[in-house]
Amino acid sequence: GLPFLFLNNTSYNFVKRNNETANNVMAVLNELLQASRLILGFGKQTYSKDRFMNVFNIHVRATLLSQTFTTAIPKFFQPFAMMSVVIAIGFALNDNVRISEITAVMWSFLAALPILSALLQGNISINNFIPSYEQLLFLRKKATENREIKGNLIFNTLQNKIELKNVNFAYPGRFNTIKNLNLVLKKGKMTAIIGESGSGKSTITDLILGLQIPDSGEVLIDDISLSNYNQNTFGKKIGYVPQDSMLFHCSIKDNLLWANEYATEADIWHSLKLANADKFIKELPEGLNTIVGDRGVRFSGGQRQRIALARALIRKPELLILDEATSALDSESEYLIQTSIENLSIETTILIIAHRLSTIAKADMVYILSKGLIIEQGTYQFLNKKLDSKLNELLTKQVSNI
Ligand code: ADP
Ligand code: MG
Repeated sequence: GLPFLFLNNTSYNFVKRNNETANNVMAVLNELLQASRLILGFGKQTYSKDRFMNVFNIHVRATLLSQTFTTAIPKFFQPFAMMSVVIAIGFALNDNVRISEITAVMWSFLAALPILSALLQGNISINNFIPSYEQLLFLRKKATENREIKGNLIFNTLQNKIELKNVNFAYPGRFNTIKNLNLVLKKGKMTAIIGESGSGKSTITDLILGLQIPDSGEVLIDDISLSNYNQNTFGKKIGYVPQDSMLFHCSIKDNLLWANEYATEADIWHSLKLANADKFIKELPEGLNTIVGDRGVRFSGGQRQRIALARALIRKPELLILDEATSALDSESEYLIQTSIENLSIETTILIIAHRLSTIAKADMVYILSKGLIIEQGTYQFLNKKLDSKLNELLTKQVSNI
């Protein structure tokens, strides 16, 4: 039995390794397929193929090893059984045991052999599933740790303000992504955040959306912690245009209906007009029924952004979050959108993150962020009038860059 215990352990390790190499193959394959444009553009076909073949070959070797081992273990059993029979007969004869007794014992042995074999086989099968099961347990533990917060409060409408109070946050393995942040989004007002790339602007949107949880401090909606709300009811009232706006592989119309299934054709055209996307869509042979392609590849970056903006607007959101949502647009197009956003009803609270300072000129409140810290805040006009403000420094830089 002891050698088998040892072999079981080895078999477990082989199967575990086999699982890891299989995961690697899937990860590399997925990444390469997603990056196909980039690979062709950089002429890295051979490199990419070699990279795939490398992980694939490692996986093939791991599979051969673990399968051979699994199949071979039961066969090891037979010579061991034979040896023990011979040794037993040797001892028995030595002790003058009668042949009839030896035969009886041997017969019972022979009868037990298939049962032992089946037990061993069962044990191996179970052992081979353990690594996969452990992976499942690990993923489940991670999922539980990162479980969406689920309070009971139903979010209906914003009364007054959304506030981040003394919020500290760091990504795992990083320090101080957001430091002691205090920020208020007043109802019906436009709040802007500007700051260099990597300063933590998108992280703030994630905190407000409840996608990241502060390490300390709170996100408050009308003075009640976001964690007390049923996140879904809050999410349904938000229009969000992320930095890398992704569209679904269906028609433009279905992409918009995804955000608001009750929208009428008139609603669709209205939100497309607000996002300055109506004209180019009207010129398409299939109009609203044009398929946008995988993640929206059949449109230019600017067109994609405008459809994504229309998708956010069609919800008539309580809170509109625009994370560099007009970064890929020409100035003319951006100007038109800016005007529509400014004209949104007084009911809409807007958080706008932008690089081009002209985009935020109408903001009621401006926060300037640097390395996770707010270094300046005030109304655009106030900061603009203050000669030594950081805003004016940035404005001078942008004007000279143009
Ligand atoms: P911004 O939107 O201002 O460009 P982000 O909020 O995206 O900045 O990122 C702030 C900082 O957090 C950066 O230093 C970035 O490297 C880091 N960061 C962003 N996302 C992650 C993540 N998922 N894991 C670890 N660090 C991250
Ligand atoms: Mg960002």
